[in-house]
Amino acid sequence: MNNKELSEKIIEDLYKEPDRKTAEIIEYYLNTGTKELCDKAASVCNDIHGNTVFLRGLVEFTNYCAMDCLYCGIRHSNGKAVRYRMRESSIVETALAGFEKGFRTFVFQGGEDPFYTTDMICRIVSTIKNSTGGEAAITLSEGIRSREDYKAFREAGADRYLIRFETSDPLLHKKIRNGITLQRRIEAILDLKSLDFETGSGYMTGLPGETEETGIRNARLCRMLELDMIGIGPFIPHKDTPLGLSDQMPFELCIRATALLRLLVPSAHIPATTAAGSIDPEGREKMLKAGANVLMINITPDDVKKHYLLYPGKVCLEEEGETGLGSLAERVKSVNRVLSYNIGSALRKT
Ligand code: SAH
Repeated sequence: MNNKELSEKIIEDLYKEPDRKTAEIIEYYLNTGTKELCDKAASVCNDIHGNTVFLRGLVEFTNYCAMDCLYCGIRHSNGKAVRYRMRESSIVETALAGFEKGFRTFVFQGGEDPFYTTDMICRIVSTIKNSTGGEAAITLSEGIRSREDYKAFREAGADRYLIRFETSDPLLHKKIRNGITLQRRIEAILDLKSLDFETGSGYMTGLPGETEETGIRNARLCRMLELDMIGIGPFIPHKDTPLGLSDQMPFELCIRATALLRLLVPSAHIPATTAAGSIDPEGREKMLKAGANVLMINITPDDVKKHYLLYPGKVCLEEEGETGLGSLAERVKSVNRVLSYNIGSALRKT
């Protein structure tokens, strides 16, 4: 079966009964209160990953996007977004400055911006790899590209790739991603896996039109894909998008989903995400207490990071970067965990 057929089969299987172990975990999830569920997930996290919280340096290098996802503040049609592109040299310098400060993992995220050709991205990746003596892990997150592009990125030295599937509901997916199918997104994930990338995906919680069943299928899909990393966060309506008038769903959805994911995919690295910190001042701590074990620190240069507005009220615009690291260490200590700059590879690779 090729990856196209395989992705079709995965979606088909998602609508069938889950295996026994999965069914048991879902049953437990449905019948357990949030506090107990989180405690259980935190204990599984501690058994497998210890009390370490891995730091990743996030560089948001472009907010140009060719896509028109209905939820996203940097969608192509949002004429109000102030657009920027970081120069190749500045992307490299930002990462190297982060390396000096101790970061050993860099995530380069952006809109789907064809300005950055395959060659350019490969050059950025290999320059950073070479300048750091191969000691830094490079993660890319720039949406769907061809398998050939992914292969070139991998050969240039990229180690990891993040690409959320956003929602596992095929109809909703097609609608909110403006025509792009869930099947195509899963195919990209399978392409990355078959190229031996450490592969991450995930979704937003509380998208309009989702039910509790959708939420459970979102988590099940993460298990079926055997992901190395799973990023989730609450959907936050952005007023300059077609979903701008949607309701903000309770943050608890995201907390419960974090715990469910930790139980369904114990080995995955799960970040306590910025979106969580943006709708609840304690959001990231709450995710850490529900089984998350990674924090992504925004090291994008100050002059541009204020324009990477996927959703309103994004924290870290003022508070973070390296200046906020001390306060972050305090926050992590407050939940009895310790920060680590270690490369934090996928467990199957260690
Ligand atoms: N272009 C890349 C990166 C997308 S932005 C890609 O296609 O993968 C990173 C993530 O931000 C998205 O995957 C989405 O889950 C999240 N996001 C976008 N808009 C959001 C919103 N309004 N609220 C919460 N999260 C949002």
